[in-house]
Amino acid sequence: MKSEAIKKKKAAAKPQTLSQRLMGSPTQIWRSKLSWRITLVVFLTIMTVQASIMSVTLRDYEAARIAELVESARSAIVPSLEGSVTDLYASPVSDATANRLITTTKLNGLAVYSTDLNLLRTFGEPTALTLRDQSSIGKTFRSADGKSYETVFRPSALGRPYLIVARMDSSTIQPQVFAYVKQTITIMLLMSAFVTTVLMLALGRWLLEPILFLRGNLLRASENPENPRIEASPFDKTDEIGVAIEISTKLIKQNADNIKRIKSAAEDQIHKLAYYDTLTSLPNRTLFLLSLNEKTRSRDNENVTRFAVITMDLDHFKDINDTMGHNIGDAILRAVGKRLRASLPESAIVARSGEDEFAITMPLSGDTTTARDIAERVIGVIRAEPFKVFNEMFQIRASIGVATYPDDGIDPDQVLKNADIALNRAKEEGRDLIKEYSEDFDRAVQQRFQMLRDLREAMEKRQLALYYQPQLDLNTGTVIGAEALLRWFKPDNSKQGGTFISPADFVPIAEQSGLIVPIGEWVMRTACETAVEWHKQGREIRIAVNVSGAQFYQSDIVSYTSKVLAETGLPPHLLELEVTESVFMEDIQHTISILQNLHGLGVELAIDDFGTGYSSLSYLRQFPIDRLKIDQSFIRNALNNSDDAAIARTIVALGHSLNLKVIAEGVETLEHEKFLREQGCDEVQGFRYSRPVPKDKFNEFVGGYAGSLEVFDKSA
Ligand code: C2E
Ligand code: MG
Ligand code: MG
Repeated sequence: MKSEAIKKKKAAAKPQTLSQRLMGSPTQIWRSKLSWRITLVVFLTIMTVQASIMSVTLRDYEAARIAELVESARSAIVPSLEGSVTDLYASPVSDATANRLITTTKLNGLAVYSTDLNLLRTFGEPTALTLRDQSSIGKTFRSADGKSYETVFRPSALGRPYLIVARMDSSTIQPQVFAYVKQTITIMLLMSAFVTTVLMLALGRWLLEPILFLRGNLLRASENPENPRIEASPFDKTDEIGVAIEISTKLIKQNADNIKRIKSAAEDQIHKLAYYDTLTSLPNRTLFLLSLNEKTRSRDNENVTRFAVITMDLDHFKDINDTMGHNIGDAILRAVGKRLRASLPESAIVARSGEDEFAITMPLSGDTTTARDIAERVIGVIRAEPFKVFNEMFQIRASIGVATYPDDGIDPDQVLKNADIALNRAKEEGRDLIKEYSEDFDRAVQQRFQMLRDLREAMEKRQLALYYQPQLDLNTGTVIGAEALLRWFKPDNSKQGGTFISPADFVPIAEQSGLIVPIGEWVMRTACETAVEWHKQGREIRIAVNVSGAQFYQSDIVSYTSKVLAETGLPPHLLELEVTESVFMEDIQHTISILQNLHGLGVELAIDDFGTGYSSLSYLRQFPIDRLKIDQSFIRNALNNSDDAAIARTIVALGHSLNLKVIAEGVETLEHEKFLREQGCDEVQGFRYSRPVPKDKFNEFVGGYAGSLEVFDKSA
């Protein structure tokens, strides 16, 4: 309650918006600049007109007052003139009469002339006008201070044959004129004010109020164009402003409609982009998870609906993309999406959750259906028939991971993650498989994560070491090389103080995480430093370093190698890089160019574990390599498996036909050695000669080694 009251108070205290302030109340009109401008112009115009009228009337007024004065003087003089005229040179005005006139009327002085302009008599104040000739008769005179006025009365005006110059007191005329001016100005002002006021009211009503109203609407529209609070016009809709208001109202509404339409279209678009995959138009991973969350939340507590959560990855899809182009890849993805969608009921959600990954969830109704059943159905749909794209048939295979909600997790995110874990398992186990999630997978994943963390720490704490395993020339028995092999001694609380972790266990993890790049760089540098030491001791021992695919593609291996060679001073031919065949599968042209650049540095190149990979024999000729390294599995089984013996034999022949050296690894016994010598193999490496050993032991081995293969100490 209290907060409600405070809110109201706040709202009341809130300053008005500009539009509110400008809303057209009549009092506002007097604040309008435009009104004032019009008023001023009108006012000044009226004043100017009136002033010019006044300037004309003022002169008339003054002339009328003088005429009155003259007339009053004449009518005072005429009756006072003496009787009959006998002597034309005797003044018709006596002293007594003149005195009376001067004291009782406005006459101050008189000068009497005969008709032939002889001055007969003067009375009172002397006159300024003197009559000498005819021309002076028509003159009048006004004193500089305006207090005296003189005029000539002719015989016609007097009714007697005389001329009289009358000097009159005109001092009252000026004040009269002033009073007249004052009065006129007052009237003018009042009139102007009245006219202006009336005009203002009219303007206000018909012009300013509608304009202010229009402005109010426009302002509110500009403040909130999407939902403008415009008011209906109370003004005459037929006049010019009324029409303008109507049009503006229409425009404001249209604008609001447009904004709303554009906004909702944009929102739809954003929604689509955020939640749908543009290629297949299927929901994306985000929407998939949202829907899954929603479905699991909307369950009623008694009857928990179970869901299958399935993730699917197309096998070797990257190859299709690389070899056939993205157009084909995209078309296949669309077709897969379509087929999946069509084959599953409405209740299923089919999403594209990654590049070549799809996710499916479906409620499990009844006791008979399981998540696996649905997965079987999905894989069946994919396998059913090849996909026809641009008139080509593509047989697609898929790996599938299966998890069930809530059996494999009560959090939908977790269930999806678990399905992904199962999917990874399916891929690891050879693809084209369905794998159901099991907690063991999770544990294995956790262990991998732990190992990765430990490996990082081991790197930092320098717990990694390099061991060296000799490589011998099978014909001369001399040690011609050494393979550098990583060793991780992980300290623990055991009696031995720690355990050796096999590179076979940690190298794949380092590869997946990219940690192999810094590790590999350390290996190469350390191995080269060791080889330089040997070189300085006069031993021409070539150091073989394993390089994994990640190093090939995630780092600039060429410039790093050349840098290490330069910094350690190792002659390039004493460094050999071993790469496995799987590296070549990534991108053959790119691989060839990297190999060529490496070869250009002068280092040797060997294909490790040869015979186990995809053996792209057709490309082998293009690879600038020096050595094939027969995989140890063939050597191990050569004596009791004729197939493996045949493979080993073929590899030797193949290598020689390509002018390559052939080295065999995993040579454990004299029989192995004899077999290889029979095949014409060039070099050997194996426990028969030495296990991989630390540098000191290796030096001991080389020092004590006599050069004959038979006298070699197996227990080293
Ligand atoms: P690889 O390159 O094929 O190395 C040869 C493996 O065979 C080594 O195992 C070596 O100890 C083992 N070996 C040698 N002679 C014999 C023998 O006569 N009998 C048997 N049974 N085994 C023999 P290791 O040291 O456990 O290395 C395993 C794999 O780990 C290596 O296979 C290599 O792929 C990888 N690796 C080791 N060090 C590195 C490294 O520095 N970088 C990379 N990227 N991978 C490495
Ligand atoms: Mg190797
Ligand atoms: Mg090998």
